[in-house]
Amino acid sequence: METLDFDVLVIGSGLAGLRAAIEVLRTRPGLSVAVVSKIQLMRSHSVAAEGGTAAALYPEEGDSPALHAWDTVKGSDFLADQDAVWLMVKLAPREVRLLEHWGMPWSRRPDGRIAQRPFGGHSFPRACYAGDKTGLFEMQTLYGKLVSMDGWERFDEVYVTSLLVEDGVFRGATAVDLRSGEMVVFRARAGVLATGGAGRLYRFTTYSYSSTGDGLGMALRAGIPLKDMEFIQFHPTGLVPSGILITEGARGEGGILLNAKGERFMKRYAPEKMELAPRDVVSRAIMTEIMEGRGLRDEATGLEYVLLDLRHLGEERISERLPAVREIAIKHAGIDPVEEPIPVRPAAHYTMGGVNADAYYRVLDTEGRWIRGLWVAGEAAAASVHGANRLGANSTIECLVSGAVAGRQAARWAWERRGEQPAVPRDRVEAEEKRVYDRLLGSETGDDVYAVREELQETMDRYVYVFRSREGLEEAARRIRELRRRMGTVAPRDKSRVYNTDLVAVLETANMVDVAYTVVVSALARKESRGAHYRVDYPRRDDENWLKHTIAVMNVEGDIELSYTPVNITTWKPIERKY
Ligand SMILES: Cc1cc2nc3c(=O)[nH]c(=O)nc-3n(C[C@H](O)[C@H](O)[C@H](O)COP(=O)(O)OP(=O)(O)OC[C@H]3O[C@@H](n4cnc5c(N)ncnc54)[C@H](O)[C@@H]3O)c2cc1C
Repeated sequence: METLDFDVLVIGSGLAGLRAAIEVLRTRPGLSVAVVSKIQLMRSHSVAAEGGTAAALYPEEGDSPALHAWDTVKGSDFLADQDAVWLMVKLAPREVRLLEHWGMPWSRRPDGRIAQRPFGGHSFPRACYAGDKTGLFEMQTLYGKLVSMDGWERFDEVYVTSLLVEDGVFRGATAVDLRSGEMVVFRARAGVLATGGAGRLYRFTTYSYSSTGDGLGMALRAGIPLKDMEFIQFHPTGLVPSGILITEGARGEGGILLNAKGERFMKRYAPEKMELAPRDVVSRAIMTEIMEGRGLRDEATGLEYVLLDLRHLGEERISERLPAVREIAIKHAGIDPVEEPIPVRPAAHYTMGGVNADAYYRVLDTEGRWIRGLWVAGEAAAASVHGANRLGANSTIECLVSGAVAGRQAARWAWERRGEQPAVPRDRVEAEEKRVYDRLLGSETGDDVYAVREELQETMDRYVYVFRSREGLEEAARRIRELRRRMGTVAPRDKSRVYNTDLVAVLETANMVDVAYTVVVSALARKESRGAHYRVDYPRRDDENWLKHTIAVMNVEGDIELSYTPVNITTWKPIERKY
């Protein structure tokens, strides 16, 4: 088995991973960095970000990092750790300007300065954007910068299967090189986990097929806790029937939501912010309209929906500000938003929870101790700046900030330990080889992994969606336990090693069932409604008992054990959340 040595291992090449790699090389030129991605580097989900990146750029016009922090904390339903939020909002303007220096084609005001648009839950128009392809241009800008630097190597289509952690110290990771199907070991002094979110736990989702929560599954198997996994964001405007995102920018530009009777129903739910209330509020409003019989129905799929109307904006504005929205609606729903309203319903859109981390994105174990040498960045992290609900445009900025923060520390850590050879735990590597090739790939007869995945997604769509109940979550837990059992006996049809996509499906689904189970167990335990987690049987927020983070670990039997840690409240005491 090949062993590859690097100073810093970056797992994931989305915004967070690329930004981290750049920061390592800026901080300590001369270090060696591996950037590993299970798909081609530039196909990471980040390229799909449309609407914008939040930063308080113009204090002279009334915005400030403090206002950005307050909006974020309120949006989080007070579950965000306020020290982490402060760090993000303070570093955000610098990140936006750094990208500007590296060639980012930000959309501009007439005076040439970076333009900003309104976004849900932000009390100032602070989402910087590049048309409605913000993430694509950010990725290209970071990639362009990285390509101009020395000292890094890319590993496209290399699937990381496990993190090697021993005695509380990060040592590296095992991976399968998909081109050969062989296992390789990355040995490194520092690691940045930047594997993104887990939107594909659901079928109706805005996420790429690759967003399967592998990093979260790997963390669970390595005994590393996940935090606040019950909080999954549903974006109000997933295009029916596919779930493809219609960006919040569409409402930022003035789009309105209508029910089957043509009523602008948001006036009943958020009279002040209307369509630009935070996503949890708008998603619940849409589902209430649908459940009370004021939705429409897609005959082919049976999906019920409401309408997003942009017609009053006019063709010129739609084509200039929202070209991708128009293109997506025409291509994927046969509807030109210039002439007809767009059918939408809430789609799984963001994993607020993630790998347990402190405000500096250091990965913490169950005792709250740092796993030395390991950081987490981007959507895989729960530091936690988003708490129970993320505001739009706050994720891409978190990717940039956390990538920079993690990358800088990882560089210093690795630099101080130059010359030390991390001892890779060989028994772990062998156990991982057995898990992958014997247990997951080896079975001759057994279940079809694609059936397991489909049933999982259907279960999550049905029972772990916008509105949740004890009965529904218990049913989900029962079904997922069964799916986890079946994962032990799946038999991939393709047994070859070279570019075996069946193997990838098995590896991903093994992560997905564990992560989904963690979501359900965490959701079942939280007997309150906060942010995106709404329990019909406990419809109120309960600060007295539940103003705390859920910490979930997987024990050796594969069960999920929960404990709780306090929220870091430095500036704002919780108040009622109204919009
Ligand atoms: C359609 C859409 C639109 C969005 N729009 C916005 C927006 O306008 N503003 C905003 O702030 N946020 C937006 N978001 C959210 C934001 O884009 C994401 O949260 C963010 O891009 C995640 O970036 P990341 O770097 O954490 O991970 P990703 O970009 O998801 O990348 C994950 C990386 O990890 C790698 N990886 C995963 N598993 C493995 C493995 N096992 N082995 C090796 N590599 C692995 C992948 O190959 C990939 O390179 C949007 C999200 C979606 C889905």
